[in-house]
Amino acid sequence: MLSWQQVNKQFGRKVVAADLSLHVADGELVAVLGESGSGKSTLLNMAAGLVQPDNGQILIDEADITFLPAEQRRIGLMFQDYALLPHLNVWQNVAFGLRMHGVSKAQAKQQAQEFLAEVGLADMAMQSVELLSGGEQQRVALIRALILQPRALLLDEPFSALDTTLRGSLQQLTLRLLRQQQCPAVLVTHSPQEAFALADRICLLRQGRWVQEGNAATLLAQPTDAWAARLLGCDN
Ligand code: ADP
Ligand code: MG
Repeated sequence: MLSWQQVNKQFGRKVVAADLSLHVADGELVAVLGESGSGKSTLLNMAAGLVQPDNGQILIDEADITFLPAEQRRIGLMFQDYALLPHLNVWQNVAFGLRMHGVSKAQAKQQAQEFLAEVGLADMAMQSVELLSGGEQQRVALIRALILQPRALLLDEPFSALDTTLRGSLQQLTLRLLRQQQCPAVLVTHSPQEAFALADRICLLRQGRWVQEGNAATLLAQPTDAWAARLLGCDN
């Protein structure tokens, strides 16, 4: 289980997290839906250890990780822009975290090959990542995150840059691998369709505050106010 407990964060005078709490169970995928600038990335970055909250706690299972260095958290991340290492080839990108954790080169390469086969990229192990298409790069980013058997997976609009066809297949692939992993997962997105299609539960974030949460059917049937209705696309 991954939890934020009464987390606050401001950048200057701008409040991006106002007493936010969120609990995500093992195997659960929660979507955080909000407009640009509402604090979605900051929420994930605080769990990943990339941004320090002003106060409040981040927990994995029962352990307080609020002050744990990012590299010790074992939390997998996927970003919109893939964030691969351009000077390393495909298998080296996938195996990078394993090597950092002291796994031998031969073993890391073999494990990377198995993951690459799982996502249909077995033949591309030696390629430069810069030569891959967007969808291929995002598959590499996905298995790079999962190969470390992360304790949680954080997805920061990872499908936004992909065209519609690729987006659907990568979403399905991500769901399939997440089901195998059974870790807590949080997807942030500004797309209601994406949240409806993928999430077990959807939380609406506005200026660092929760507005409403529930499953797709509940939210669509009873958006809490006009803002929620518009965000969910109910007014189209
Ligand atoms: P979202 O992902 O929902 O678009 P972010 O969490 O990235 O929102 O950002 C929320 C707000 O905080 C934005 O107004 C953004 O400009 C601001 N912000 C984010 N990171 C920083 C930072 N490191 N320093 C100052 N302001 C920041
Ligand atoms: Mg963002």
